[in-house]
Amino acid sequence: MENMIKDIDILVIGCGFSGAAAARRLAENGLKVLVIEKREHIAGNMFDYTDKNGVLAHRYGPHIFHTNDKSVFEFLSRFSDFVPYEHRVLGRIDGQYVPIPFNFKSMDILFGREKTQRLKTALKEAFGNRERVTVTELLSGSGEVKAAGKFIFEKVFLHYTAKQWGMPPEKVDKSVLSRVPVVLGYDDRYFSDTFQFMPAGGFTRLFEKMLDHENITVKLQCDAQRFVKTDAAHGTVEFNGVPFTKPIIWTAPPDDLFGCVYGKLPYRSLDLVLERHHETTYQPAAVVNYPNEEDFTRITEFKYLTGQKIDGATTIMKEYPMPYLPEAEKGNIPYYPIIGEENSALFNRYAELASGIKNLHLCGRLAQYRYCNMDGAVAGALALADNI
Ligand code: UDP
Repeated sequence: MENMIKDIDILVIGCGFSGAAAARRLAENGLKVLVIEKREHIAGNMFDYTDKNGVLAHRYGPHIFHTNDKSVFEFLSRFSDFVPYEHRVLGRIDGQYVPIPFNFKSMDILFGREKTQRLKTALKEAFGNRERVTVTELLSGSGEVKAAGKFIFEKVFLHYTAKQWGMPPEKVDKSVLSRVPVVLGYDDRYFSDTFQFMPAGGFTRLFEKMLDHENITVKLQCDAQRFVKTDAAHGTVEFNGVPFTKPIIWTAPPDDLFGCVYGKLPYRSLDLVLERHHETTYQPAAVVNYPNEEDFTRITEFKYLTGQKIDGATTIMKEYPMPYLPEAEKGNIPYYPIIGEENSALFNRYAELASGIKNLHLCGRLAQYRYCNMDGAVAGALALADNI
């Protein structure tokens, strides 16, 4: 270890999008970077691999790239070809498959054309030419708009959100629910961003190329918690028992950096169950959401994400939300920060400790406790790298 850190200019902890994108940018800016990663592979939760069915599967849940940020798309396009992919999701509601985000087609299916026609008029009166509204906005409307809001909330959001977050929806931050709008039109795409593409050879291959730079060294199966020790009182950090004064980018949960002195920062985890099936197609869309009856929230059929043509074999993944339990056999991965006032206040206390250590930088979804998408993680990492 001593030898590895002797000649480096900067240490990056974690090899997901935040760590890898920062490493690449720093390397191109002429710095020698060491990335250390706890897992036995690169690419963080974007890690994908070809399974026994020949299907490119995402080990840590489906990752679908979309962005309005041209610079992020251009940066990533240097490391992979990208193929156009517009994500479409169906919800299993009252025994029917309906498009999610809930839109006019979902209304046609569940309300019938006549009622939908009346509702369209009411929605137009309430929201003018807006194409997307939140379910909360519908609920605060009146008459038919409010009634539709109640129905959509009950059938699409209420139970899904309770399962996903393990708490009643009124306790879940509004920004979380508004990630999925209600669409006042027939656009049935899950995302409305300008750039909607998937990396042609998968995410792991993209990461391989991104990290393939003479100034980058990656060390896998190396748990930073064993090596990095902070001293918040003196604003210093040690690596393997020796003072370390070069910059460190930390992309893991920030409480771990400080021995959880203020208590554990809560995250939400998932039990992800893969199934291989001997049929060409399992379900009618890439993702089917199960808001209500089932214990899982959604099923992803990976072939749709890549357009792979494989006869008689397909691979699916069911997502069972659960609490984050670092030491347990299941649920030991912190997938989602749980956005809310109390947790933000706790995070801020850790962020304040971190800011007292001048060479330490928190970066990314886990470290900055932000519910951001892949593009947001990359944008944040590039900005930080350019600032260092
Ligand atoms: N959501 C819901 N019903 C759905 C889809 C989403 O209630 O059919 C809510 C739920 O609270 C979820 C949030 O919207 O956590 C964000 O959904 P998104 O699909 O963006 O979640 P992610 O892909 O990040 O897990």
